[in-house]
Amino acid sequence: MSEIAPRKLLKGETGDWEVVIGLEVHAQVSSKSKLFSGAPATYGAGPNENVSLVDAAMPGMLPVINRYCVEQAIRTGLGLNAQINTWSRFDRKNYFYPDLPQGYQISQYLDPIVGEGEIEVELGPEETITVGIERLHLEQDAGKSIHDLSPTDSYVDLNRSGVALMEIVSKPEMRSGEEASAYFGKLRTIVRYLGTCDGNMDQGSMRADVNVSVRRPGEELGTRTETKNVNSLKFVRQVVEYEARRQIEVLEAGGTIDQETRLFNVKTGETRTMRSKEDAHDYRYFPDPDLLPLEFEQAWVEEIRASLPELPDAKKHRFVEQYGLPPYDASVLAADKTAAAYFEAVAEGQDGKMAANWVMGDLFGALNKEGLEISDSPVSATQLGGLIGLIKDNTISGKIAKEVFALMFSGEEIGTPAEIVEKRGLKQVTDTGAIEAVIDKIIADNPKQVEQVKEKPKTMGWFVGQVMKEMGGKANPQAVNQILKAKLGVE
Ligand code: ADP
Ligand code: MG
Repeated sequence: MSEIAPRKLLKGETGDWEVVIGLEVHAQVSSKSKLFSGAPATYGAGPNENVSLVDAAMPGMLPVINRYCVEQAIRTGLGLNAQINTWSRFDRKNYFYPDLPQGYQISQYLDPIVGEGEIEVELGPEETITVGIERLHLEQDAGKSIHDLSPTDSYVDLNRSGVALMEIVSKPEMRSGEEASAYFGKLRTIVRYLGTCDGNMDQGSMRADVNVSVRRPGEELGTRTETKNVNSLKFVRQVVEYEARRQIEVLEAGGTIDQETRLFNVKTGETRTMRSKEDAHDYRYFPDPDLLPLEFEQAWVEEIRASLPELPDAKKHRFVEQYGLPPYDASVLAADKTAAAYFEAVAEGQDGKMAANWVMGDLFGALNKEGLEISDSPVSATQLGGLIGLIKDNTISGKIAKEVFALMFSGEEIGTPAEIVEKRGLKQVTDTGAIEAVIDKIIADNPKQVEQVKEKPKTMGWFVGQVMKEMGGKANPQAVNQILKAKLGVE
């Protein structure tokens, strides 16, 4: 186990205890067929519709490796900046379970296809950490037992049996629930970019086994517990926080932690014992005699590398360079491929920072409120870009722009922002003569306020408000301020 430098505690009342977390993430490979059979790997089929003789483990059936799944594992390894092993091997992990007809799972134990790597994880505007990857290996999923269809019988659905999974194992380098959950989210972003897993946690395509232990900083790693099948970012954080608190309480009361497998209850936010943890030797791992070692050329790896899309970190760094965005804003926009593309379309030929502010502020806010995805945005990137252009060249003020945005978002107005501004007569008045006329009238009508502003210059704001009201918010704010100052004698 690698030695870990103590890092400052983030959130959570851990006192002088340090929390140590490592995640094993199962990510279902996006592929048409299963890892060792030609049966479909699609989600949502009827019970046992996607089961071949191989998946049902009929006697004499032989597994044949799916080249595309191997390619997907390599692609993911490259996305994790990891070592790709051109020689790896499949092992049998032996155990009995009613939804595992073979009596063993084909997995990779000593020689995984992907070795060590690392990824950047953003925690917030000020903080990015690097988390080490221990390995990624390929393995088959098991089927599913269903116990709630009948009071007396259990059923087995083997559709998932044999579907390819990538198990991505982190180093024990995370130190809080927040870090663990951000890491899980970053993995999802990466596999979605790569197209190697759909990342749909609620459908079980991505789930995490959360390993948690506590120790006094500088001491050896403590005994860990492993909480199985946690399928949301929020739950990962809850598991860590619950487990850390529980373990600290046990240790502070003079007890010891049992190395065990636990289950998370999403309703109560608590974990409970499932079974004591087995060791690797309990599984009697041995190389699967039905399969040759998996060997491929480095040239193939290079071919896959050359075909990778721009990844979120590269995109983030480019956004910082090209548009002058703060790194955190850049990472938020880069986290989702569609959002990133939308932002770039808005920013084309416009002020990049303004584009980022509008996308992350007004647009994301409005979409959230309506529960819409960016791909369903009623305001197109071209429209938003046009709107920013109108602010930039002083055709409209920022305040009027928000009005125009709301009109476009609600569908009340269609067309380009310039057309809408024209049609609704929202153009900013920069004609100083017109502004002056309004100001003169307000000054003449309000002698008391004019007296007051001489003593309290701050009350000039009242005049600005009056002018804006009179002119329907369309007066150029700089011009209004300038003329008012001159006329009222405010410094
Ligand atoms: P397994 O759980 O299958 O026996 P490993 O020994 O490889 O597999 O460890 C699995 C995960 O547990 C890894 O993500 C690793 O970082 C994490 N881990 C190992 N030791 C600790 C520890 N003391 N505290 C927290 N996490 C740990
Ligand atoms: Mg484990």
